[in-house]
Amino acid sequence: MNSVANLSLASNTDVGNIAFIDLQAQQRRIRPAVERRLQAVLDHGRYIAGPEIAELEEQLAARTGAKAAIACASGTAALIIPLLAQEIGAGDAVFVPAFTYNATANAVLLTGATPVFVDIDASTFNMDTEHLERCISDVRAAGALTPRAVIPVDLFGSPADYRTIQKIAAQEGLYVLSDGAQSFGGKLDNRWVGDLAPATATSFFPGKALGAYGDAGAIFAQDESVAELWASIRWHGTDASRKDSVRVGFNGRMDSFQAAVLLEKMAIFDDELEARHNIAAIYNERLGRIGRPQKHINGATSSYGYYALCVENRDQVVSAVNAMGVPTAIYYTTPLHMMPAFSDFAPEGGLPATERTAHEIFSLPMHPYLTPEQVDYICDAVESAVA
Ligand SMILES: *Cc1c(COP(=O)(O)O)cnc(C)c1O
Repeated sequence: MNSVANLSLASNTDVGNIAFIDLQAQQRRIRPAVERRLQAVLDHGRYIAGPEIAELEEQLAARTGAKAAIACASGTAALIIPLLAQEIGAGDAVFVPAFTYNATANAVLLTGATPVFVDIDASTFNMDTEHLERCISDVRAAGALTPRAVIPVDLFGSPADYRTIQKIAAQEGLYVLSDGAQSFGGKLDNRWVGDLAPATATSFFPGKALGAYGDAGAIFAQDESVAELWASIRWHGTDASRKDSVRVGFNGRMDSFQAAVLLEKMAIFDDELEARHNIAAIYNERLGRIGRPQKHINGATSSYGYYALCVENRDQVVSAVNAMGVPTAIYYTTPLHMMPAFSDFAPEGGLPATERTAHEIFSLPMHPYLTPEQVDYICDAVESAVA
């Protein structure tokens, strides 16, 4: 095995106790620092809009190269706010992949706009840009909706093809909102997620690569001038006095406790990202021989929020590895256009790559505290299950 010795940050060598995501190991590492941060919030008592929020926003912007970062209540709030800021709503078409978490489409529908489901590329699991172009021309030909925006999703942490998507968006006059809920820490052409589109939404749900101890999210801007508008929508649509409503908004804020936790998690994030990359390198090498791991486009580095792999006999492989004590998850068993809430928007003829992938994909344990022995054991288990 190559360089497994320094693979991870953990000392737990118990292969019988593999966690899909191990938030407890991480908490043990940072607990005293987190306790000091939480104590500071208890002491100053500014549970909303405490100094932790501005400190976190500054760090998030500095880290990603974005011009501004706005702390939000959740990844979902972070998706809705830029759409509202663009005045996207009834009669507008917003192009989204169907192979994603439901929040991507919910955000569109909550603004009153219509989601148009785009197929994925079968190797990257991200939006198929040729199909995006066909969907845009179909919407224009039908004439009922105005194409307004596209929301590429960086599935499992792997940046979507922003080079092509930006080009299409510029030609078609579409706004690009990146759903980077899973990709904080990812990169494309040496630019971080957060600086790959005019607006990027991320989620700090506890299980994401950078997670709070509750719900939280953020929006990143490439142009500083939208930050004030986003901040207003996040605060009930009020002006700088935070009293008079000047537009429609809602409570989309992050609370100070979540920012406090995130500040301590930011301090170890690079270290954790490296551990994720080391684990992914071994998974890719060993499992790439027996299955189809997610491919990343040229120039892209995944944050490895999740590690996903396709195999033909997925259900058998999953039960076999589970029986060997390896936990798995399936993101996603049902594409959005096949769910009751979104089936009104199912495209005629379906989405072939999306539907095939939903039958073949599963995710393996991925977190920075997996030991080299555990990674080996997981690879052995998948190899024997596929054989
Ligand atoms: C997690 C997630 C969201 C929603 O984030 P929340 O913080 O749970 O609101 C949106 N899109 C994708 C792709 C996600 O994985």
